[in-house]
Amino acid sequence: MSFEEINSVSCEFFDSHAHYYDERFFGEENPEGAEALLSTLFERGLLGVVNVSASYADALKVIEQAKHFERVYAAVGVHPEELENGGLGYIEQIERIRALAQSRDENKIAAIGEIGLDYYWRQDNKAAQADCFVRQLELACEIGLPVIIHDREAHGDCFETVLCYPEARGVFHSYSGSADMARELIKRGWYISFSGVVSFKNAVKIKEVAAVVPDDRILIETDAPYLAPHPFRGSLNHSGRLFYTASALADARGTTVDNISAITYRNAKSLFGI
Ligand SMILES: [Zn+2]
Repeated sequence: MSFEEINSVSCEFFDSHAHYYDERFFGEENPEGAEALLSTLFERGLLGVVNVSASYADALKVIEQAKHFERVYAAVGVHPEELENGGLGYIEQIERIRALAQSRDENKIAAIGEIGLDYYWRQDNKAAQADCFVRQLELACEIGLPVIIHDREAHGDCFETVLCYPEARGVFHSYSGSADMARELIKRGWYISFSGVVSFKNAVKIKEVAAVVPDDRILIETDAPYLAPHPFRGSLNHSGRLFYTASALADARGTTVDNISAITYRNAKSLFGI
């Protein structure tokens, strides 16, 4: 990772969704490792990161990194693509995550996530995905934590499912649904988070959504190492590139990058209780 690139734009954003334990942060694209990169980003003004797990094994990693950095927080949950992981089924993984969440302060757990439905990769296990999703929505409601929702090509079912839990709070991460669905979610207290996708030239629909989300419900994220914004599309993403996503959001909303930084930081603190 080049320091020159990180020094060229502001890093003063709160990244509501990243995966800093991913092996790409320890490979040839970033030979110094995730911790060196995060240290540099925090020196440059990064406001905070929610480090999001996809399985029980990842949950242990996000907690370890959260304990290492004052402004890194953990989200623990089983992603719909990880119903089986490390020899554990999702029911066992959720039970172990429940045990971690019982020490939520010590483990710096800010949310249950990412959880949800993914019909892009698989549609043959919809019932198991749904069961995994609702068990974790119930866990989040029981212990009073917000949730981070992964919804890929499953908008209708994700929407119907969260409506069954009116007491649940949380965010639809890297939102890809319609403006109408966003309005309905916002009415019910949900937050909408935008990734680098909003900066892509062909992202017409998502720019429309970005224009209608009210100031008090918008979040910004990298989904690092994935979804690098234009002009870095396809390369290793990191929180030092939120500026480019914020610029696209500012254009869509007719405001400034500084305003996007301020409102998304305030909303992250409010949602995640930090
Ligand atoms: Zn993610």
